[in-house]
Amino acid sequence: MDLEPGSTRLYRCGLCGADTPHRICSRRGNRYAVVCTNCAGGALVGGDDLLLYQVRWEEELRQILEQLAEGDTPTDDRWH
Ligand SMILES: [Zn+2]
Repeated sequence: MDLEPGSTRLYRCGLCGADTPHRICSRRGNRYAVVCTNCAGGALVGGDDLLLYQVRWEEELRQILEQLAEGDTPTDDRWH
C-alpha cells in the first residue's frame, strides 16, 4: 500500500476525535508524521497502525454496504 509523503490515510484523530484523512508529511523508518485534515493536528503513528486502521475501516464500510444492499432487496420486490 502506498504510504508516500503527500498522500492521505484515514485515521482517528487524537485531537478532534474524528475519522479523517490524515496527510502524511514525513516518514522515518516505519514511523509517519501525519496531519489531520480536519483540525490540522499532528500525530506520529506507526506504518502498521495506519495500514491496520485502513483495513478495519474498509471492512466496516463493506459490511455497511452489504447491509444496505440486503435492506434494499425487499423494497425492490415490492415495487416491481
Ligand atoms: Zn483532527
